[in-house]
Amino acid sequence: MKVTVLNPEFARKGVWFFEQPEFFEYEGEEVKVKWANPDELALSTGNPEFPFRIIQRKRIVKIDGKTVKPAEAKVVTKVIKGSKGNEYVVTGSNGKWNCTCPGFQFRKSCKHTAEAMI
Ligand SMILES: [Zn+2]
Repeated sequence: MKVTVLNPEFARKGVWFFEQPEFFEYEGEEVKVKWANPDELALSTGNPEFPFRIIQRKRIVKIDGKTVKPAEAKVVTKVIKGSKGNEYVVTGSNGKWNCTCPGFQFRKSCKHTAEAMI
């Protein structure tokens, strides 16, 4: 597959002395890498020293010449009532949850986020 990736430096090309291309093109096969995140694509390079490169999926603009839509972050916001009647705002985005209750600030998890996930 041929992957066209947005060059993040293009947006700040004024700071570079040399020309920054807007896109990079990489060619290779998708490889399964255990430690790659789901939002990353591992692409083989054909170079035995660096057998693959990791590409952030959100930077990919084209695959095999076909434009890919950037994956929209799904944001969920719910107001959950606590046991003492307080209301907490729970937000979730791409599997990451957040809650405004004191317990969450402390433990990074709470029953409100668990309730909102249902
Ligand atoms: Zn909470």
